[in-house]
Parts: sequence; structure tokens; C-alpha cells
Amino acid sequence: MAFISIHTTHYHWSAILAFLIISAAHSALADILDPTVCSLGFHGSLPGISPEFSACPLPIDEDSAFDTGSFSPWKRRPYCVEPAQDDAPGPQFCLYTFEPFRGDQGLSVITTPALAASMVDALDDSVVPPKLRDHPSSFLVAEGQRSPAYVIKDVPKRGKGLVAQRPIKKWDVVLVDYPVLLTHMDVFGAVDDESRADLLEQALQQLPKTQQDEVFSLARSTGGEPIEDILRTNIFGVELGLEIPHSGLYPIGSRINHNCSPNVFWRYSVKTLAVEVIAMRDIEVGEEITQSYVPLGLSYKDRKEGLNNWSFTCTCPLCAASKSQRAASDNRRERLLDIYHELNDGAAGKINLTEPAVMEMTSEMEELIHDEKLEAQQLVYYGVVARAFMRVGELVAARKYVELCEDLWVRYAGDDQDYLAGMYQLRHELTEREKKAIGS
Ligand SMILES: [Zn+2]
Repeated sequence: MAFISIHTTHYHWSAILAFLIISAAHSALADILDPTVCSLGFHGSLPGISPEFSACPLPIDEDSAFDTGSFSPWKRRPYCVEPAQDDAPGPQFCLYTFEPFRGDQGLSVITTPALAASMVDALDDSVVPPKLRDHPSSFLVAEGQRSPAYVIKDVPKRGKGLVAQRPIKKWDVVLVDYPVLLTHMDVFGAVDDESRADLLEQALQQLPKTQQDEVFSLARSTGGEPIEDILRTNIFGVELGLEIPHSGLYPIGSRINHNCSPNVFWRYSVKTLAVEVIAMRDIEVGEEITQSYVPLGLSYKDRKEGLNNWSFTCTCPLCAASKSQRAASDNRRERLLDIYHELNDGAAGKINLTEPAVMEMTSEMEELIHDEKLEAQQLVYYGVVARAFMRVGELVAARKYVELCEDLWVRYAGDDQDYLAGMYQLRHELTEREKKAIGS
């Protein structure tokens, strides 16, 4: 059903984004792994990065293109609007459509000309690795040969959802999905209502008819103008270029409903624009496939607040538990975060840590993660444990947690080496420390 609200602030939005996607880890691991930002600790989009890509070649030479009528690879003349605010002249936003995208599914993109240029390579089906291309759920597999592990069907009180029709193993890719519409997040703030409505309507009209029908069959929640309602209810955060936030409308993925203890997570690739929906645990036949719309590990109150963006009250087992059970869960979650911060501050040298204290906090942490079923956050916690053990000079334990962390990191980030930079840095630091320890 829903992923992000376009009315949330940038910071809030990027926190949700950070949970939903996995992005290139350019900064130090310490910056990336923050469980208060997101469940998996991926940093998502960092505020303050300016959306300027003058280095990117433009997809079309605007002047000569208007003479020759060629806007290749886009099939039509881009339709552009200026941002509304006179006092803050921003970039122009244009609508680009590529009909042959991913087995003629089609893709419309509303973004700046420079960002449109930066994504041209991603339009080509040949960038899709065989594993994704041949996945049973893929649009690139011939119609008769598609056999996804899920069916889309009515779920009591939750509209449509995805339900497993065969057993799904932990780490299996459940779904490979491609966007039909990508929209620069600034379009929702900087472009006046009328121009925006115009852009969005055209963006959908330029898609193949079957996709238009698909989009209009998606859930709505807020009322008002249908296209914007569908977007508000169904989009989720992705990036184009160097981490520039965009909303993505993914026709199948958008139907995955919320649960505070979800069974899948999402992996997005800016190179292919694909999202892979991956099982975080074994899923049985008949079980609904669920995703968390808010960061994992939040208290009841914070989850409820976050979910207000989609105007529904969560009735998952965690939220439907008795008041005292909820309070106990909140306490465990709070304690888990306290431990994280203490280990993190200690690893950074801000407070003094001792080896027994790190050991004690680590085992308490493991217990809390287990009790709260927050295994998806182990990646975040193992990273900080490894650094804390390094700080107190307990290199054998540090090695163990670096390896656990690395194993999970590869699982979450997939094969994309760019995503693993932060992890490799941590391993490198440890190896250097080990060499020194042997030498001394
Ligand atoms: Zn819930």
C-alpha cells in the first residue's frame, strides 16, 4: 500500500528513505550505522548534498534537439516547468518518458535535465544482471514463464496485499520490481499545484495503457486529486544521481502492506532502478508479505506517529499487545538504543569503556534483539560492537563481530561493491591493528 508521505519533511523523509533503501556507503561506517536513523542503519540520503551535476553529459543537446526533433533515448520532447519560488530560482523540472523500459513496462521520470542525463545508462535492459532479469517475478521474463512466489489478493481489512503461494526461505528474493514513475522530491515543494498536477497527469498518460490501469488500481488514502492521492499512498524513497531523493512508484512493491515486525526488506540499485524485495526470515505459504513503513526498533508511540502519514492504525501483534506488554517492549527498545550509544561513544573515545563492560553490554544487546525480533538490525549493532572491542584492544572478539557484520552487510547490500566500502574500511582498520599486535 504505502511507503512515504510526500508531506513529511526532508529529514523525516530521509530517515524513512534510509530504512527502505541501501545506498552507497561513502562515509565512515560510524556515520552510516545509526539505529536511530533507520532499521538497517543504511545512511540513505544525507541532508545538504546539493543536486548539481554539471559533470554529467546532458541526454540531449537542447538547442539542436529542438531543431532535429531527436531527444534520444527519450522518445518524446521533454515537457518542462519552472519552479514557483521567484526568490529561490531552482532547476527546471522536466518530464521524460521511456516506453520500452523493462519489457515495455514503461517509465516516466520527472526530474532535472542533469539528473535525467545521469540515469540514461539505467534505461538499458542490458544493465540488469541475469539474476534479476531471469527472476520468476521479473517483467523481463516472458509472460507465460513468470511464476512469482506471491499472489496479489484481498487481505482482510487491508485492501490488497501480497501473500506467499509457496514457501520462501530467508534471504530469498521475493520480488524484482521496476518503477513506472520517478519524481524528484523537490517537485512536491517547489512546483505550483497546477503545474505539478499537469506534469503528473502527462507522466501517467505517456505510459502504456496497461500500466496506467495498474497505477489507477493502486490504493488511495487521502482523497483529493486521484494521481496525487495514489502517489501519497504508494510511493517510496529512492535516489538518482549522487543520492538525490526521488519518489518511486513501483506497481507491485507498492502493494506490500505494513507490519511493525516485517518479513521482507528492500534493496534498491541506482544502476538498474530495480528494487529487490528480500525475505528477512522464512515465510510460510499463505503468510502475508509485509514491510515496515517506519524505521524498525521504534517505540509504540513513535511507530504510531510515523504511521499517521498513511492514516491507519497498526494492528500488528506488536501494536495489538496489552498495554503492559507494549510498555515492556518499549523499555527493551529504549535499553537497546542506550547500549548502542554507549558502545558508539566508547568506540569514538568519548567515554571510557572496559572490556568486561563491552562484553556485558554485547550479551545484553543480543538478548534484547532476540526478544524484540530485531534481527534485521544486527548489522547495525554488530558494527558498533566490533568497534568497541577494537577500542578496548580485544581483537579476537572484534574479529568475530566484523565477520558477522560483513556477512550480514553482503546479504543486505547484495553484490554491489560500492555499497560495501564502509564495511571494507572497518575490516581494514582491524587488520592493521592485528598486524601491529603481532609485531609488538
Ligand atoms: Zn504495528
